[in-house]
Amino acid sequence: MATYYTDAKVALHLDRLEALRAGDVFAPVHVRLKPTNICDHGCSYCAYRANRANNLNLDGGMEVHDRIAPEKMAELVEDFISMGVEAVTFSGGGEPLL
Ligand code: SF4
Repeated sequence: MATYYTDAKVALHLDRLEALRAGDVFAPVHVRLKPTNICDHGCSYCAYRANRANNLNLDGGMEVHDRIAPEKMAELVEDFISMGVEAVTFSGGGEPLL
């Protein structure tokens, strides 16, 4: 079976390590973007919406209806492309497909 993950992944980005050492500013390899806090699920393990009794709740100060406007999302994606970002993970806060 092929191995897709490795602890040595950083070795694939030696150019960025060199840039970091030189104090250069460069684009991240990977960006994690949370498009919205809106969610129509109710996962029991959700750290953002779980019952406060489980001590996992992270929603203090989080506005559950917040979202990044579609125009801004398009702008961000264009920026990531032009910067050379190689991967984007869309996650929550909320359900990113909403
Ligand atoms: S934010 Fe994610 S984990 Fe939380 S309820 Fe929604 S889908 Fe489930």
